Formats: sequence, structure tokens, C-alpha cells
Amino acid sequence: MRIVEVPPSLVFACGFMTLSNPWFLAALVAILGVFHLDLIATLLNLSRYSLPLPERLKGVFDEETVKKAAEYAGRSARVDLIRDAFFLALLIGMWWSGGFAWLDAKVASWGLSTLWTNVTAIGVIMVVKSLLALPFEAWDTFGVEAEFGFNRTTPGTFIGDRIKGFLLMLVLGVPLLALVLWFFQTQPLAALWAWLCVSAFSLIMAWLAPRVLMPLFMKFTPLGDGPLRTAILGLAERLKFPVADVSVVDGSRRSSKANAFFAGFGKTKRIALFDTLIEKHSEDELLAVLAHEIGHCKLRHVPVQIAIGLAESALMFWLLHLALSSPAFFEAFGVSGRPLGLGLMFFTLLYQPLGLLLGLVSSAMSRRHEFQADAFAAEACTSAPLMTALKKLSTENLAHPQPHPLTVTLHYSHPPLGERLAALERLA
Ligand SMILES: [Zn+2]
Repeated sequence: MRIVEVPPSLVFACGFMTLSNPWFLAALVAILGVFHLDLIATLLNLSRYSLPLPERLKGVFDEETVKKAAEYAGRSARVDLIRDAFFLALLIGMWWSGGFAWLDAKVASWGLSTLWTNVTAIGVIMVVKSLLALPFEAWDTFGVEAEFGFNRTTPGTFIGDRIKGFLLMLVLGVPLLALVLWFFQTQPLAALWAWLCVSAFSLIMAWLAPRVLMPLFMKFTPLGDGPLRTAILGLAERLKFPVADVSVVDGSRRSSKANAFFAGFGKTKRIALFDTLIEKHSEDELLAVLAHEIGHCKLRHVPVQIAIGLAESALMFWLLHLALSSPAFFEAFGVSGRPLGLGLMFFTLLYQPLGLLLGLVSSAMSRRHEFQADAFAAEACTSAPLMTALKKLSTENLAHPQPHPLTVTLHYSHPPLGERLAALERLA
């Protein structure tokens, strides 16, 4: 039976007396640690805009671009920092004032079954959190991105995207969440079942995303007959890469940033080019970028990344099992009993530093894959057009010319431009 009444003493106790609880200390260190590490990395990174440019990058970034990139990074970092500090304060306030125990009691009083009580508790937190994040997203899109000329999202698209995202969450996320919670409520081998289910779900999603989900947000138009289509099909044939169709995605509806494109899974691939990419690049450059993406497929990078992801989630579910089996884990957040929905949310807080640490492995692997795909493209199309394309992408998207190694290690899935150019020069 759940304890609905929260004794006032518990509420006041959770700020002080639980310091002897290892879960409480771990959560505190985890939350504050990740926040400060990110802050330090951001400050170090911002300070590197004033460094003199190495010879290789001198012709790429002029003084004006570096200045603009520094301002852009500063503004973006300010939005992120204010948002993170706001959520950190809110979390600690909620935690130390006994807010989670209050929420737990409130949701329990609605008379739902145990499973739906748990789903609802975590659902309430997620909905409130997304609503509170909205002003920050709007500030970023219509403030910072617009100020630097990147934004093309209209308020209608902005709101439409969020509504579609919310509906997808309801249709896909809630049943999966309920299933995972049901495993932990009823099955002794819950971690294993949950891992199998979530893994199967992610694989299905990876398959569905380009076919069903992305078309909900973006418009795909077949690339008409012409020299570009002929050249793309020619390249694909030369590289023995079976292509089912080539389409153009209207990335320009949201941002002027030229994102690369993606290729679908399966026997015959679907190539989708962002219209912003086509707009700004010559045919040779487009083919080089395309060859880079084909390289990822040919070198089997996606299965490797998926395998790393599955191993990581196996570890995560095992740790989740340890946490949810410990009464002290729930006490650390001021709640009694075993409200699994809230427990799942508490666990995400604790998991942050470990997730970050594991992320280092997968992003290091991803940066390695980028070098390999670059080498593949250089072999297929010579390195010159790829180098031009990379330079254009970096300057137009106002990338950092010389990001700090800490930021690269923590967050970069792609190597910095300088390193990629150096590697391509060695191949040429
Ligand atoms: Zn790549």
C-alpha cells in the first residue's frame, strides 16, 4: 500500500538529515557537478575566440566572421546558462522543500491504478518542464537565431512542431513508459525485459524515422530530372550504392543553416538533401558531401553506433534496477514508499554524469567515423571539393574556429574544422 500522507517532519528532514544517505549525496554531486562542468567548458570555449588563427584557417575565417561567431556563441551560451540555472534552482527548490513528496501524494489522491499513478506523476513533471522550457526555446529561435539571420521558423511552425511533438510523445512515449514501469512493478527480471523492449523500440524508430516521422515535420519533394540528379545517381552507381530515390527536404522553412542530409536504411537507400545545402554549394561540393554520407553507410558506422547505444542502455537499466530496489534511493528525494514514476525521474538526475562519461566514448567513436567518412569521400571525389564544402558549412553556420578540447571531448560529434582539413591535406 502507498503512504499518501506525508508527515511534515519528513518534509523538513529531507534538506538536512538525509546527508547520511549515499543516494542523496550522489544526486547532489551529480547535479551540481554536471552544471559546473558545462559552465567551465562553455567559458573556456568562449575564451578561445580571441586566439590567433592557425595558417590553415586564415583564408577560411576572416576577422569579421570570427567576431560574429564569438558574439553568436556568447548569446547562445547566455540563453543556455540562464535556462540551466533556472531549472537547477527549480529542481533544488522542489527537492528540498518536499515538493516531490507533495506531488506524489497529490497524484496518488486521484485514485488511479498504481501503474497509471506512476505514469501520471512522471507525465506531469515532463509536461510542466516542457512548458517552462518554451520561453527559452522561443528566445533562442526568435531572439538569438533571428538576430544572426539563421531563423526562418514562423511562430506557426514553432507552435505546430511542439504540438506534433507532444502528440507523438502521447502516442509512442506513454505506452513505452507504461510498459517499462509495469515491468519494474511486476517482473523480477524487469531490467532485462525493459532493455529488450526499449532496444526493439529504438530499432523500429530508427527504421520509421525517415519514412514516417520526419515527413510529419518536413516536406520531401523528389529531386527533378537535371544535371544534379544525373550526377548523384552517377556517383551512387560508381560507389555501388543502390539508391531508390533522391529528394529535397525543405530545411529552409526552419533555418537558413545548411544541414547535411541523411540516407535511409534498408537495401535501397533514400537520399534526402536539404534545400539549404543545395542553395549554397556547387555540384562538386554536393557530390563530395554525398560521398561522405555514403562512406558512413559503406563503412558500417550506423550498426557500430547502434551497438554502442544498446550496450549503454543495458548498463543504464541495470543501474536503474539497483536504484529502484533501494528504499534509501526514494528517501533521498524525500518520498516514501516506491513511487516508480518519480523514481525514474530521480534516476535521470543521478545518471547525468555517467551518461556524460559514456557519451565521451560514443562521441569519440563518432569523431573517428567522421575522419573515416572524409577519407572515403576524398578517395571517391578527391579532397578539394569536400574541403571547400566543409569550410563553407563552418563559416556559414558560424562554427567555432578553434573550440576548446574540453568542449570537443564533451559535446562534439564531429571533429573541429581545422582537424578535418589537416587530415584531408595529409591524404591529398
Ligand atoms: Zn559524417
